[in-house]
Amino acid sequence: MLLKEIKDIYHKELGTIYPKEEIDSFFYSCIEHYLNLQRFILAIQPGIALTKEEEQPLFEALSELKLEKPLQYILGTAHFMDLELYVDENVLIPRPETEELVQWILDDIRSQKSDVGSQKLQVGNPELKAEAPCSEDESFHPLPFSVLDIGTGSGCISIALAKHLLNAKVFALDVSDGALDVAQKNAVSNGVDITFLHEDILNTELELDFDIIVSNPPYVRELEKGGIQKNVKDFEPGTALFVPDDDPLVFYRVIIDFAEKHLSEKGKLYFEINQYLGKETQALFNHRNF
Ligand code: GLN
Repeated sequence: MLLKEIKDIYHKELGTIYPKEEIDSFFYSCIEHYLNLQRFILAIQPGIALTKEEEQPLFEALSELKLEKPLQYILGTAHFMDLELYVDENVLIPRPETEELVQWILDDIRSQKSDVGSQKLQVGNPELKAEAPCSEDESFHPLPFSVLDIGTGSGCISIALAKHLLNAKVFALDVSDGALDVAQKNAVSNGVDITFLHEDILNTELELDFDIIVSNPPYVRELEKGGIQKNVKDFEPGTALFVPDDDPLVFYRVIIDFAEKHLSEKGKLYFEINQYLGKETQALFNHRNF
């Protein structure tokens, strides 16, 4: 069959579910992924034809797209900052907001707003591989400093931090075995060393201290489910997303309790939060000993 004809079938079969541009993007991602064909192939070779074997994965992907399965799960890959990550239905697909969270931590450290690290602190982006300015107080936070990612899922946060903070000793925990398998695989494929811990943060006896604690915990209330797209609701792990309406900040409260005990003196805690619960989340920090 001609590649052009398959593209038309994608549009015909998916047209009632997705906008045109998204269907184009699905189609081009699939031909890139399965056939290693460039996105512009149809512009230069409009008559390109595929064999039956070449067509097969494109039609399989099409049937899954019709069920609204996220493309990242179909292809088994997602991008996060400069990382390529394996993803399956054991883990949340990393989001752009979470990239902002990681960027915020890296920016803080680079600009030394964070007191973490001292003179040997190195930022690992090859283009920016410069030593950060000396800290005033060198006795403070002897290196390497330590980072904990709570609820690591695909490992996106911890792997990005481990890759960019050369002197950090990075730990990541998750309650899900399936998620830990995915995160471990991603740490290996991205060449970083992370200590993964199988722990339930709601019930942990972990006795380590950290200079940075970061988390993107579940924070979507059941009452917000109506506004959540089918591809998210039906395919992404509910335990990674949803919290009970009567205690939506349960993870934040527990993580703040944990941080109160296990954050080093000038350590920092970073969260992604529910945009509708900003004030309530902030209030959890009242009367705390940070
Ligand atoms: N830390 C992972 C992410 O940000 C998983 C988060 C989660 O499962 N709630 O994608």
